[in-house]
Amino acid sequence: AKAAGKACVRSSGQALDSAMGRRARLARDLPAALAQGQLRLVYQPVVGVSDRRILGLEALVRWEHPVLGTVAPDEFISLAEDDGLIVPLQQWVLRAALTDLSGLLAEGRELQLGVNVSVRHLQAGCLAPDVARALAVTGVPPGNLVLEITESVMLDAQDRLENDLTTLREMGCVLALDDFGRGYSSLAYLARLPVDILKMDREFVAEIERDHRGAALVAGVIEIGRSMGMDVVAEGVESVGQAGLLQGMACRYLQGYLFGRPMTVEELPAAIDSFDAG
Ligand code: C2E
Ligand code: CA
Ligand code: CA
Ligand code: CA
Repeated sequence: AKAAGKACVRSSGQALDSAMGRRARLARDLPAALAQGQLRLVYQPVVGVSDRRILGLEALVRWEHPVLGTVAPDEFISLAEDDGLIVPLQQWVLRAALTDLSGLLAEGRELQLGVNVSVRHLQAGCLAPDVARALAVTGVPPGNLVLEITESVMLDAQDRLENDLTTLREMGCVLALDDFGRGYSSLAYLARLPVDILKMDREFVAEIERDHRGAALVAGVIEIGRSMGMDVVAEGVESVGQAGLLQGMACRYLQGYLFGRPMTVEELPAAIDSFDAG
């Protein structure tokens, strides 16, 4: 028992060491990830409720670390933001995602593609020109690109940032307010910001089956978005029950594991076709 206790103490110490070591290691290796092409994109479908078709995709970045394997964005986006690598990273994401989209559009598939935006890219002042360049290089029409911006970003946003968003919208890009309902939730921003799409966070969606009040809250958010002329997308839909309730609340777009996990661009055509057929 004594030996086991000792082993336990030692292994928890090692776990702590390796947890701290991992972040430092990821920070050290991130420049190489960009330079050596270790980033890749996966795509998750966004489904239209009325005809149950895949109408859109969201691009989600992954890092194939040569030793640590696949690293999720929650682990390295903030590192990139702290190390000044976020602008080149976002430039790569935009270029790669729009290249993939141009291939799908060339096959005659009508899809909108969501790309996640970092506040630092907006603050650096080069988001709009970078988007314009990526659209020009790939030939994707601006209306097929959705820029997903989180509420926390909006809260920091100064007037200049709002001007940049307005510029992007005037270029014809679609703007989505991402993660609505997570943490910040300032309803006033909805009225003020130039957004076309409201993406309701999965924490909100999870409330829907909890009780009467949770359902009323979700119904209210959908109604507010709709009455402001926005398309509302429910994120993190995992169950048939959630999907049915959301459909009953006139939410027209759904995203979540129920309809598809993030997948590679090679997997997309078969997934879209089988979804449309089913
Ligand atoms: P997000 O924008 O809210 O993206 C949706 C996240 O929820 C994705 O995680 C997705 O895999 C996950 N998800 C989708 N459906 C379900 C579901 O039914 N249940 C559950 N539990 N989760 C679901 P992922 O890919 O790990 O991305 C996490 C976050 O990283 C994203 O959250 C986004 O904020 C950020 N991110 C991803 N790619 C990029 C990027 O290229 N640039 C920037 N700046 N941020 C990115
Ligand atoms: Ca997003
Ligand atoms: Ca989200
Ligand atoms: Ca997010």
